[in-house]
Amino acid sequence: MAGEPQADCLFCKIVAGDVPATVVRETETTVAFRDINPQAPTHVLVIPKVHYPDAASLAAAEPGIAGDVLREAGEVAAEEKSESYRIVFNTGAGAGQTVFHAHAHVLGGRGLQWPPG
Ligand code: AMP
Ligand code: ZN
Repeated sequence: MAGEPQADCLFCKIVAGDVPATVVRETETTVAFRDINPQAPTHVLVIPKVHYPDAASLAAAEPGIAGDVLREAGEVAAEEKSESYRIVFNTGAGAGQTVFHAHAHVLGGRGLQWPPG
């Protein structure tokens, strides 16, 4: 069923507590944890607890939860005192997506170049 946990999904395992993560925030619908390979002083991933392969499919099926992910991204940035920050949803292998469970990267704590590579 859409949104159900996937046995082979790393982020579903983090939601279930089967893989450890440095969790910074959790809500009924989302988990936020530090990226294991940080690209900035603040690099936190915000994920929905439900499994969808990318942000757009999450938003199509569960727009309220997609909104929760965005709100939590802002809460993380506020907690990290990042006034300027970037929310990134890599979508597709060609754009650098490696984990196919929707997630927002929240990047901050340093100057961020535009456009990104
Ligand atoms: P993406 O490449 O956009 O799919 O993002 C996946 C992110 O997950 C990468 O930035 C990885 O560094 C990060 N990552 C992979 N495994 C873990 C883990 N066990 N805990 C935290 N972050 C992870
Ligand atoms: Zn998953």
